[in-house]
Amino acid sequence: MNTVAIIGTGNMGAPMALNLANAGINVRAYDIDEAKLDPLTPHGVIAASDHQDALDTANMCITMLPTHVEVLDVFEHFIQPSGGNMIWIDSSTIDLNVAVELHDSASAVGIKMLDAPVSGGTNGARTGTLSFMVGGSEDVLSASMTVLKAMGSKIVHCGDGGMGQAAKMCNNLMLGIQMVSVAEGFRLAQQVGLRESVLFDVASASSGNCFALQTFCPVEGLVPHAPSTRGFQPGFSAALMHKDMNLALNAATAAGLELPLAPEAASLYAKMIANGDDEKDFSAVIELMPQTGNT
Ligand code: NAD
Repeated sequence: MNTVAIIGTGNMGAPMALNLANAGINVRAYDIDEAKLDPLTPHGVIAASDHQDALDTANMCITMLPTHVEVLDVFEHFIQPSGGNMIWIDSSTIDLNVAVELHDSASAVGIKMLDAPVSGGTNGARTGTLSFMVGGSEDVLSASMTVLKAMGSKIVHCGDGGMGQAAKMCNNLMLGIQMVSVAEGFRLAQQVGLRESVLFDVASASSGNCFALQTFCPVEGLVPHAPSTRGFQPGFSAALMHKDMNLALNAATAAGLELPLAPEAASLYAKMIANGDDEKDFSAVIELMPQTGNT
């Protein structure tokens, strides 16, 4: 029987821990904000007193932390010293090169690592329908499958160490740009007097159709559960999209690739943050494109 330590029980990690416990897996959770552990304990999750306490009897560890800064810190201070004989799954979305380096550092002390970032958001985390994009060896993935399947419905092996982060990064780069294009389409429609519902119907059945349109439609009232219907409460925050766009830009620079659109889209999410809208859904990017009176 696996005992899984889960470190970082925020918006994503908490429902993931609950799904593991619901699947009958022993779960020991820790978060530096210990109040985040309270709602988990009535459902069978053991609240650890610190990182070490979470890891002590675990044969598997999942980290679900904000950025590579926290992941590096937790790895260096707690996971690495705990020695080998453990599978470590980092499901945080982090820098590609850091993920590759972490695979090397983990393997040097006998820890078997997967980078396994997710898509599906908080709803997917709650319903156990996350998609995991996995980098690492097939053997480690197959040894982790029961645990991953307790939290997700689609597990894709993307390649060697780091390739899970690579897949996540490329996907979110596409979504970040796609969202801007959908927002521009609707603003132009409004400006020239085309009804928004007509554009939605036409684009949904035409070449403008995409995930950003169907899930994050930035005009209120067209998609029932879109963040625009609740004042742009996320969903997926502008801050997280900005982080992901920068992960892609940094990887492109490191690889010697110039991307024409990504910097433009990233600068819009940066502007949302500068305007104090970092916790709004990223689809609120449409608010940076005010209508003018020249119709
Ligand atoms: P969050 O901020 O809600 O949760 C992170 C948790 O980590 C917090 O509770 C924080 O207290 C804890 N933490 C920070 N440093 C710690 C440390 N040193 N030790 C222990 N705990 C620590 O973030 P989230 O929304 O759960 O996202 C987590 C990761 O998943 C991020 O990398 C994010 O990009 C990614 N992600 C998020 C979503 C989403 O919709 N929220 C979707 C896909 C991927």
